[in-house]
Amino acid sequence: MYDKNNIFAKILRKEIPCDKVYEDDKTLFFNDISPQAKIHILGIPKIEVIDFGDFIKSADAQMVNYFFFKAYEIVEQKKIEKTGFKILTNSGENGGQEVQHFHIHILGGEKLTHLR
Ligand code: AMP
Repeated sequence: MYDKNNIFAKILRKEIPCDKVYEDDKTLFFNDISPQAKIHILGIPKIEVIDFGDFIKSADAQMVNYFFFKAYEIVEQKKIEKTGFKILTNSGENGGQEVQHFHIHILGGEKLTHLR
């Protein structure tokens, strides 16, 4: 069950601030508070989904497509599409997911060998 009090839900409700990179009516992208690379942006859809499986299964296909399309636009906006980047999502306990609102990490701006 989705926890409306998770930190990203609070960010979406503007109860706590974030360092915004891009926002529209369906998505929000913001800088990670504890960056693991020179560029470390989190992307979240503005729907109540817990993790990757929940997103893929309960969001409509248009939303899924829109979200990942936007993610690549952020990659292009940051000009890391040629130098390289990682997009990752942690899921569940073994995946190390800390915040229970589905999100992706966009990492780049330097060699990411420390994140293998
Ligand atoms: P995950 O382990 O995939 O759930 O990642 C959660 C990420 O959220 C971590 O990289 C945290 O540094 C990041 N994070 C937690 N709180 C905030 C916040 N208030 N603003 C930005 N990033 C955050």
